Amino acid sequence: MADAPALLRDVFGFDAFRAGQEEIVDAVAAGENVLAIMPTGGGKSLCFQLPALLRPGVTLVVSPLIALMRDQVRGLREAGVAAGALTSANTPEETDAVWDALSAGELKLLYLAPERLASGGTQRMLANAGVSLIAVDEAHCVSQWGHDFRPDYLRIGELRRALDVPLAAFTATADAETQDEIVTRLFDGEAPRAFLRGFDRPNLHLAFQPKDSPRRQILAFAAARRGQSGIVYCGTRAKTETLAQALREDGHPALSYHGGMDPEDRRGVEDRFATEDGLIVVATVAFGMGVDKPDIRWVAHADLPKSIEAYYQEIGRAGRDGAPAETLTLFGPEDIRLRRSQIDEGNAPPERRAADHGRLNALLGLAEAMECRRKSLLHYFGEDHPGDCGGCDLCDSPPETFDGTEAVRKALSAALRTGESFGAGHLIDILIGNETDKVRQRGHESLPTFGVGRDLSRGQWQAVFRQIMGRDLMRPDPERHGALWMTEAARPILRGEDTIRLRRDTIDRAKATRPQAK
Ligand code: ADP
Ligand code: ZN
Repeated sequence: MADAPALLRDVFGFDAFRAGQEEIVDAVAAGENVLAIMPTGGGKSLCFQLPALLRPGVTLVVSPLIALMRDQVRGLREAGVAAGALTSANTPEETDAVWDALSAGELKLLYLAPERLASGGTQRMLANAGVSLIAVDEAHCVSQWGHDFRPDYLRIGELRRALDVPLAAFTATADAETQDEIVTRLFDGEAPRAFLRGFDRPNLHLAFQPKDSPRRQILAFAAARRGQSGIVYCGTRAKTETLAQALREDGHPALSYHGGMDPEDRRGVEDRFATEDGLIVVATVAFGMGVDKPDIRWVAHADLPKSIEAYYQEIGRAGRDGAPAETLTLFGPEDIRLRRSQIDEGNAPPERRAADHGRLNALLGLAEAMECRRKSLLHYFGEDHPGDCGGCDLCDSPPETFDGTEAVRKALSAALRTGESFGAGHLIDILIGNETDKVRQRGHESLPTFGVGRDLSRGQWQAVFRQIMGRDLMRPDPERHGALWMTEAARPILRGEDTIRLRRDTIDRAKATRPQAK
C-alpha cells in the first residue's frame, strides 16, 4: 500500500508537506478524532484528502462552499481519485451518478453540502455506504454565535454517532469559545486531538493607519499598487459602491460586491475576480469564504473589522501563493463607536457581548500597538514570536511614545465631571475651551476642566480618545447616544496610581489634519 509521502508526490504533486500538515495527516489517517486549526491558505484540504486515500471505504467531506467543493472534486478526478459531490448545484443525472458510484463502493471522497444532512434518505444511504471518516471543512459554521453559522452543521454530530466513525474538523477560526463549541457539537464534548498550526504568514506585510481621509488613503494605497489584484473591505454596502466608483475614476478596474446584490451579479464579480488580473473588488464581508484566488496582492480595510479574528481572516486572503502581499487597515473613533454599538445592539446574551467587546479590544490593541504587530497578532493566537519581524509598519519605523498620563487624566476627568453623559466631541469642546451652544446650555464653561487641554488641537484630542477607547479605558454607551463612561481599568490612572504611554505619531499626525466631521 502506498504511504503518505508517496501519495503526496504522486497524487498531489507536492515535494514536501507544509508546516503542520504531516502530523495532521498521520493522526487523521490513523483514525483519531482531530480538530485542526489552520490559517486560510495553510493547506488544510490535503489534510483530509490524503488520509482519505489511506483509509478503507469512503471519506465524507462536509463543506458549506459549493464552488470550492466542485473545484476540489474536479482537481481530485484529474489526479485520478474517485470523488463526487452532492450539492444543490448538481443536475439530477449527476446526483444519480454519485449515488450509483457510492453504492458500488467506487468513491474515495464524497463531498456533501450540509443541507443534505436534513434528509433522512441521505442519512440512510450513508449508513450503508462504507463511510470510514467524516471530514468537516469550515467547522466554525457549527458555532451559533459566529457570523457563518449553518444550522445544518448541528446535524453532523448526530451523523458521527450514527456512523460511529472518526471525525476530523478543520477551521481557521482560533478563538477558544469557537473551539469549545466545535468540541461540544461535533465531538459530543469529548476532546479530539487538537492541532493549532502556523498562524504566521510571513509574506503578509501588516499596517494600520488612523483614518483621517479614508477615500484619499485608500486611493493612495491602491495607486501605489496599480495593476495588482486587491480587495478593499468596507463597513457598509453604500460605501462599497462609492469607493469602487472613486477607484474607477482614478483609473483602476474596480467592482463593488455586497450581500444586497443579486446572486447572479455576485457570481459575476467572483468569476471576474478569479480570472482577470489586476481587478480590485470593493466589498463588505459578504465577499469572503471561498475567495480562493492565490495571487491577491493586497487587502485594505477602509473601515475597522469587527474583531481580531475577522481581521486575520480578511487580510489572510492576500498572498496565498506565498509571494509578498500588503495589507492596510484604517481605523477611527467612528469605527470603534459603530462596532461597539453593533455588539451592544445585537441580541447575544451578556457573556457573549463581553467576549465580543474583548475581541474588538484585541483588535484595537493591535491597531494602537507600540511594537511589532506580528508579535501582538500571533500572541493573540497563542503563538510566540520574538518580534522585530521586519514585515510590519511598526518594525519599518518604530513609533515614538510619550507619557500620556496627564492628557488621559484630563480626558477622564472631563467625562467624570459631566456625569459620563457625553461623547468625545463635546468632551473635546470642554477640554479645548470651545464655548459652543451646548457647552453654554449646560454651564460647562465654568467647569475646572474647561480649557485645560488647549495645548492639544481637536484632532490631537481625537487621537487621545481613540487610544483611550483602544485600551478600553472608556466605552460609549449605546443607550445614551454613545456617552462615554469610564471602565475599571481607568481608575488607577485617574487616581494617579498608574501611568500610561501614548503613541506620539498618531497624535502628531492628527495635528496636521483637519478635524473629522462628526
Ligand atoms: P486552505 O487551508 O485555505 O483550505 P488549501 O487546502 O486550498 O488551503 O491550500 C492552499 C494552497 O496550498 C493550494 O493551492 C494547495 O494546492 C497548496 N498546498 C497545499 N499543501 C501543499 C504542499 N504540501 N506543498 C505545496 N503546496 C501545497
Ligand atoms: Zn513587526
